[in-house]
Amino acid sequence: MPDVNRRGLMLVLSSPSGAGKTTISRRLLKNDDNLDMSVSVTTRPMRPGEIDGRDYHFIDQARFDAMVAASALLEHATVFGNSYGTPRGPVEDALSASHDILFDVDWQGAQQLRAAMDRDLVSVFILPTSAEELHSRLVNRASDSEEVVRHRMAKASGEMEHWDAYDYVLINQDIDASVAGVRSILHGERLRRERQVGMASFVNTIRRELDEG
Ligand code: 5GP
Repeated sequence: MPDVNRRGLMLVLSSPSGAGKTTISRRLLKNDDNLDMSVSVTTRPMRPGEIDGRDYHFIDQARFDAMVAASALLEHATVFGNSYGTPRGPVEDALSASHDILFDVDWQGAQQLRAAMDRDLVSVFILPTSAEELHSRLVNRASDSEEVVRHRMAKASGEMEHWDAYDYVLINQDIDASVAGVRSILHGERLRRERQVGMASFVNTIRRELDEG
């Protein structure tokens, strides 16, 4: 197949906690060499088992504030008193190099990314099949107390309110089917004309050859 230059895309997955987003993300990353996870910066302390540069870039507040001031973050938020953000540079480099990036962000992060990078963004919202199913997934998540589960259920409702701001919506009944669904979204979006920035010269070359007989 001729190598036609393509601009990468930003794939944003959001869902209420417990709907299967993390499993879907892992499976997508494992099976697609052209897809990488965005690594955020954060001011929170590193947890045991985490690796700087893989899980997050761990930085101090002064550095974070400097990045905000320099518009070096595509979006940022404060969660439980710590600052988090998506660095702009690696995303722009990846898009120019035809690489796609996966973002696991909530609806507010998705909205900020959309505002910053509208045309490069493809967003997918993942829904549970029912409240009952979401509840049982959260309960089965080992250590969480009843209180924490109740809090997550309430938060899930708020997150789900924003489903209609996404390009694609899927109900995660079967994990294989959901992964296949997101893969086909990726496949279609990679073929979008606007992303195929090398297509004009490809077509022109063929036409020139045809016209020259
Ligand atoms: P944790 O500290 O447990 O890894 O993450 C806490 C929260 O911060 C999670 O809800 C996670 O989604 C959110 N978070 C992580 N990275 C980013 C980011 O780059 N931007 C935003 N807006 N939220 C983030």
